[in-house]
Amino acid sequence: MRLVSTRDPRHHASFAEAVGRSLAPGGGLYLPDPLPCFVDLDHLLERLSPQSRRAEILARLLGEEFGRAETDRMAAEAFDFPVTLVPVAARCYALELFHGPTLAFKDFGARFLAQTLALLRARDGRDRTILVATSGDTGSAVASAFHGLAGFRAVVLYPKGRVSALQERQFGTLGGNVRALAVDGSFDDCQALVKGAFADPDLSSRHGLTSANSINIARLLAQVLYYYDGCALLREAGLGDPPVFAVPSGNFGNLCAGLLAQRMGLPVRAFIVATNANTTVPDYLDSGEYRARPSVATLSNAMDVGAPNNWERISRLHRDDHGALRQALRWGHLSDPETALVLRELRDLGYLADPHGAVAFGVMRERLGLTETGIFLGTAHPAKFADSLEPILGIPVPLPAALAEAQARPLRIEDLANDPAALREALGG
Ligand SMILES: *Cc1c(COP(=O)(O)O)cnc(C)c1O
Repeated sequence: MRLVSTRDPRHHASFAEAVGRSLAPGGGLYLPDPLPCFVDLDHLLERLSPQSRRAEILARLLGEEFGRAETDRMAAEAFDFPVTLVPVAARCYALELFHGPTLAFKDFGARFLAQTLALLRARDGRDRTILVATSGDTGSAVASAFHGLAGFRAVVLYPKGRVSALQERQFGTLGGNVRALAVDGSFDDCQALVKGAFADPDLSSRHGLTSANSINIARLLAQVLYYYDGCALLREAGLGDPPVFAVPSGNFGNLCAGLLAQRMGLPVRAFIVATNANTTVPDYLDSGEYRARPSVATLSNAMDVGAPNNWERISRLHRDDHGALRQALRWGHLSDPETALVLRELRDLGYLADPHGAVAFGVMRERLGLTETGIFLGTAHPAKFADSLEPILGIPVPLPAALAEAQARPLRIEDLANDPAALREALGG
């Protein structure tokens, strides 16, 4: 697979190079170009099991670079959990992407990134430190994906006292090659510390510092696969028409992956952008004026992003043309009170959603045509947000086994001063 930079089409890289670098020189993001097109849809969507479908698509994308045996192994290791399609209302389905180890869809990207980096290490023999700042979900998915992986350590920085107790347990109890550092500061402070460490060439090369940020093309590519799962499951349910996907969006990696799947030939009728009160993209689509801004806190906190880092890719896919983007997408946003209403409506339909999925369902209902079939992406298990859901829904939100187990393990966290020198020392000088 050949990748080009969003900012300079003359710059290209192999997949391995793009994963290793994360960012293209000059700050661009990598996009596959040319994109392959798979026309044997009946084969892919109806005749293959979910496991072999993922392996087959991955082999078509990366087999030339890595060899089929490797891509098969990567698919088996990274995507060893199910995706389910649940009917919620007439012509409305939830695609549940949260049945992985940390109960959020970020497991797809993080686990595949871990497999890819393990392959790079097998080639170059270099140990790596994955350094990540988190406000919750990313830290859990990344820590879990790299836990126990030889030649890697994962260092998770998070704002002390500002992530949920449940989230802290998910990444703070693993131990071994995972370190959880509770920073005396905000999420932005954590991110600044991480950025500072990457910007220090000496520190960076000594520890093989590597980013697990959502701009990494490995995270994006893994997410292409579940759009195929969604279409296959819909056919299995007896509905052959191309669906409309509603994507709860923050940094817009998820939507970008869907658009890539569509360009590779997956029959999708339309994509709906759904955001919370962080409306940078919906406002841009409305007005043509792109204005990044500080994020505001909402119920769907993993989407609290005011400057979405993958929008550059989506914009480039549409030649940075506002009119083309307006044609390609539908969009909408929900406030917290609206999200709470939708959560209660879903409860009354017999479906327990998390706040992110509820935003997607709420916007989807407004934007879905009468004869269309809609699939909204369930990006997190509701139990991860039990604290905010229980008062809204008035019913208990049961904890699945994986979370209950994490709850019972002792915390192994270290405090970190909000100071680059302290981080340098924590990393081992
Ligand atoms: C990260 C996240 C999102 C947003 O996904 P993007 O790819 O950043 O748009 C939505 N829901 C949940 C639960 C998340 O963790």
